[in-house]
Amino acid sequence: MITWSFPPILGSKNDRELSRIRPIVKRINSIEEKLQQEPAEALQELTSKWQQHLARYHPLDIASKTAVEKMDEAALQKTAQALQQRLAVLRKEFSSLPSEVAPTAESIENAKAAFHHIEDRFGPARAKYLLQILPEAYAVVKNAARRLCGSQTRVSGQPLTWDMVHYDVQLIGGIALHRGLIAEMQTGEGKTLVATLPVYLNALTGLGVHVVTVNDYLAKRDSEWMGALYRSLGLSVGCLQNQMRPAERRAAYACDITYGTNSEFGFDYLRDNGMAQSRGEQVQRDHYFALLDEVDSILIDDARTPLIITGPAEQSAQPMLELKPQVQQLVKRQTALCNQLASDVKSHLESGDEAEAGLALFKLKLGQPRHRQFLRFMESPELRRLLEKTELQYQRQSFRKDIYQLKEELYFSIDDKRRDADLMEKGRLLLSPSDPESFTLPDFTTKLSAIDNDESLSREQKENAKKSLHEERNTRAASIHAISQLLSAYCLHERDVHYVVRGGKVTIIDESTGREMPGRRWSDGLHQAVEAKEGVKIEEETKTYATITIQNYFRLYEKLAGMTGTAETAAAEFHAIYHLDVLPIPTHAPNQRIDRNDQLFKTRRDKYQAVIRTVETAHQAGQPVLIGTASVEASETLARMLKLAKIPHSVLNAKHHEKEANIVAMAGQRGAVTVSTNMAGRGTDIKLGEGVAELGGLFVIATERHASRRVDRQLRGRCSRQGDPGCSQFFLSLEDDLMRNHGDPAQMAALIEQAKRNGTKIPPIGKLVESAQAQLEQRDAKGRKQILDFDDVMNLQREIVYDFRNNVLTNEDIRDLALQTIEESVTHGVQSHLADGDPLNPDFTPLREWARATFLIELSDPSNVAPEKLPSEVTKRVLASYEQRVEGVPAEFLEREERRALLFAIDHGWQEHLAEMDELRDGIFLRSQGQKDPLVEYKNEAFALFGTLMDQIKRDASSNLFHLAAGIQALKAKR
Ligand code: ADP
Ligand code: MG
Repeated sequence: MITWSFPPILGSKNDRELSRIRPIVKRINSIEEKLQQEPAEALQELTSKWQQHLARYHPLDIASKTAVEKMDEAALQKTAQALQQRLAVLRKEFSSLPSEVAPTAESIENAKAAFHHIEDRFGPARAKYLLQILPEAYAVVKNAARRLCGSQTRVSGQPLTWDMVHYDVQLIGGIALHRGLIAEMQTGEGKTLVATLPVYLNALTGLGVHVVTVNDYLAKRDSEWMGALYRSLGLSVGCLQNQMRPAERRAAYACDITYGTNSEFGFDYLRDNGMAQSRGEQVQRDHYFALLDEVDSILIDDARTPLIITGPAEQSAQPMLELKPQVQQLVKRQTALCNQLASDVKSHLESGDEAEAGLALFKLKLGQPRHRQFLRFMESPELRRLLEKTELQYQRQSFRKDIYQLKEELYFSIDDKRRDADLMEKGRLLLSPSDPESFTLPDFTTKLSAIDNDESLSREQKENAKKSLHEERNTRAASIHAISQLLSAYCLHERDVHYVVRGGKVTIIDESTGREMPGRRWSDGLHQAVEAKEGVKIEEETKTYATITIQNYFRLYEKLAGMTGTAETAAAEFHAIYHLDVLPIPTHAPNQRIDRNDQLFKTRRDKYQAVIRTVETAHQAGQPVLIGTASVEASETLARMLKLAKIPHSVLNAKHHEKEANIVAMAGQRGAVTVSTNMAGRGTDIKLGEGVAELGGLFVIATERHASRRVDRQLRGRCSRQGDPGCSQFFLSLEDDLMRNHGDPAQMAALIEQAKRNGTKIPPIGKLVESAQAQLEQRDAKGRKQILDFDDVMNLQREIVYDFRNNVLTNEDIRDLALQTIEESVTHGVQSHLADGDPLNPDFTPLREWARATFLIELSDPSNVAPEKLPSEVTKRVLASYEQRVEGVPAEFLEREERRALLFAIDHGWQEHLAEMDELRDGIFLRSQGQKDPLVEYKNEAFALFGTLMDQIKRDASSNLFHLAAGIQALKAKR
């Protein structure tokens, strides 16, 4: 029997929680006693009984509507039967389900709808059942552990004999975890084994349980070690490792239980949702339950930097360099043209021809908005008004088409506001007189399907032809993009106004503050274009494909729980961000560790020397010492000094987790001296060697206080596991970072002096240091909160975009989705054209232009349609045109291409959006000097950007689809 020892710090709330749990522990133990009489098979039988019951709550895996519609009699029969079986077991609980599923498409669809209707209630139903079977299930796990005792397994390549049966405190920990609490259990209390309880219970659902560890080595170790237990009960266990290929990952996720590090889980999520090109490429299943080992390390220490997948940006520097001379030519011609326009303005003004002067001024602005003479003109209020008047006139509907003509007089036209440039026909001719088309995109889809349908080509030839087609398109797209950015660099970005060049680098100047912003880069190739213009080295550009913070990744899970030796000091943060409460669990045996007072020295040198002397004394007596350091550098210094003192030792820097785990495991042997950074060998159990207990156990010497008390407590916890003797001591100096930056060195120096004078001991300074630490912890927590607040904005957007993207990937009725996307973009487009125009005197030219450009159709005269009917009318025509074009095309081919068209639009839009959001966030902090709250500003602007993004995705997707359809049509015509 155990006598309960409660450390006095436990509050009464925790006491109450524990006393509620204790009766359950008693029940588990009494059930387990009975199980001891049963044959081993009884455990597996119980397991499959529970699994079977819970399988009723699995998601429905049944053919899509379109697939059902195509089914023959026999297939319908089979599907209806399968559905009938699924519903039968649920009907008692959910009476709204139909009693019969007939083998007709309609009846099947109805049954599916009824199922989806009740699906929301599965979560609570499942939870209720799990709670009900918990005592019996935990007894099964404990009993399985008992039966494993004495058996051999291999863990991390070493043979290991199983020798563990869950202690009562471990059962308490297991119950706390199932309730979604953070179980605070000291190092060495056997958290690895505690995990088996809630993991087994939740794995019975078949939804997949993820156990998250701090490194790959521990994921492997624990999955092998605890795998013996799970497998004996009939559950499957998988493990993720860094270098694994998608197929292996998919297999690991398909298991009942999957071990892995937070970044493996997080990156798989990003790859699945932001990059996969088909459902088959995705590896994860649901996010049901994640159990986090060393939860503080994952949710707090690792949460400072988000997970980011970057890749090379599509633009390479090559086209910039190649096209630079040509663009210089263009700019020179345009400048000449603009000089002429400027003198036209003057002469028209002189002759009193205001209208002509205004027109020339407008052209000048379109051609070179930063033309010297133009800027000078703009200093005159009259001329500014004249320009405004002209612009307004042209913006009126009836003149809109004339703007195109105006632009065609130029080599290229520039949009000052949008900061981009468009090459005009005249410019194209100048660049490539023989083939101006080489600066337009080839009709990709026509050519692609032509290749696909060319029967004279072998499979391999087709692949090659497609590949070179892709390459051609990419090269052309890259040239067009490069020209546009180079033009922008030459005509919109002025040296010493928008940027400076220093030390071979282009540095942006913030327009509102005039400050230089080193390290920041313009996105989308503009920075490279400016580098090309200035003739400095063009830097490689990377692009963010996908990103998420650790916090937001783990919020995806339906259930979350964690365990660690040190959670209490971060309890407020766990609660605020993850809604996780901390429950400290009593230790199995009373803790024997002696925490000696901190020692304080003036200099780092003094401190290290004292450490060496202390190690020497302990070492001579044979007591093992573990020296913890805050940095690799400190480890190396100490190692050098130990060598000089001729003390044999090992050094660990958290580089090779597995190798270091093996060394740390030996740190409790007689005479061992081990120097280790904080993270090295974490999670590895340090057992005491023979006779070491009598020498006082393991001696942990810490050479610095960390910014967070949690990390200090972790280090102390490396000794005195399971009631072993042991002691810990901190050695500090006034030169330590923490003391210099956050302590009160003067006060402490005075303490040292005083003690020296009086020949007394230095008073305990641990308390003083800890208050500095508490302040630092708060500051760091605030920093993490801020990252999260900003990411929350993005998180909502990410969810919407990923949902949409997943819908595109997995939706079997992709046609519906495509048509819906077109419809939305048509409606939006028509409405904004109507809103732009003069309602009394509508001009449909721009609308028709737009329809021609986007959907490649001629709208017959829309003026006899009532304005409110216009959106639906145009939609009808556009959709009809699409249907007509793709009619008769093999469904499989069309679906694949449609999916691709949509994905392309989403990914392109989202990646650009990520870059814009980055810029927005960077910029917003500069503004925070004003009165405005940066977060509020950020939210508002992010919201606006997102609206634009969604519209743009839909527009691009529609345009992609129509280009696809046009290609198909052209192909049909050729046949
Ligand atoms: P923690 O993760 O809590 O620091 P570990 O899971 O690494 O602890 O376990 C520490 C040691 O305690 C291991 O050597 C393990 O074998 C041992 N241990 C854990 N639980 C038991 C048990 N119920 N009976 C015997 N030994 C146990
Ligand atoms: Mg552990």
